[in-house]
Amino acid sequence: MDDRLKEELAAWLEFYRDLGIEEFYRREPGAGIELGNSKLETGVSAEAPIVSAAPPATSDSRLPVSETSLPGHEPRTAAISPPPISLSLFEAPPPPPRARETLEEIRADLGDCQRCKLARGRKTIVFGQGDPHAALVFVGEGPGADEDEQGLPFVGRAGKLLNRMIQAVGMKREEVYICNIVKCRPPGNRTPEKDEVDACSPFLFRQLQSIQPRLVCCLGSPAMKTLLGIKEGITRVRGQFFDYGKTKAFVAYHPAYILRNPREEKILREDFETIRDFVKTRA
Ligand code: URA
Repeated sequence: MDDRLKEELAAWLEFYRDLGIEEFYRREPGAGIELGNSKLETGVSAEAPIVSAAPPATSDSRLPVSETSLPGHEPRTAAISPPPISLSLFEAPPPPPRARETLEEIRADLGDCQRCKLARGRKTIVFGQGDPHAALVFVGEGPGADEDEQGLPFVGRAGKLLNRMIQAVGMKREEVYICNIVKCRPPGNRTPEKDEVDACSPFLFRQLQSIQPRLVCCLGSPAMKTLLGIKEGITRVRGQFFDYGKTKAFVAYHPAYILRNPREEKILREDFETIRDFVKTRA
């Protein structure tokens, strides 16, 4: 088998493995495929290997795409046309799907989201902002009035404090990624409700899966609960690292909390120094 065929075969095996299909068998050359009363000729010569895979019986064409490396992320489903039952390697197979989604693809899938009641009151969807390959992602709670107006996360008073903290420890806002657990402004800036987080957080998990940062920093208790499932008070948890799939998560106070409790700013600054040291030493 030449190198190109080997590469194609490897790509297809990986594709099928992502679909949960691990066992393959080799059909006898020229055997064709029985489809009801008719036989589909594969038209393959004696030397041509044929790889067949039987997908698990399912009445649903929405097959799992891949396992995620990040927790809190239910295996996603996506409409996929069933793979060909039999593939001759002498016919050019379509390229295997890309393993990692881009942020643009996730944004396109979000569309003009109406998945929860927050859609009714929002002006703009605040998807996220920053480097799509950032080593550090900040996750806040939800857009406020300024964010809803501008379509960007953390641009109001809390955002200005976040910017100041980022700069104070020698980082730049452009080199991180910033988003929230919900993408639409909750009325009166209330905490997002469970059904809203349930509807929106799959998109956050997909963003994290796409970016694959070295560190995810939960800003405030709702982000900590959503990403880490921690129900303890944030005062006891802040400043700590947690395993988060292949990556790490860190918990810090939300900047809006510091605006209300300015005496705690020193703690936030220390936490940002810890974050900076973690990210820079693992660069
Ligand atoms: N607070 C948040 O949690 N997120 C924002 O984007 C702005 C304020």
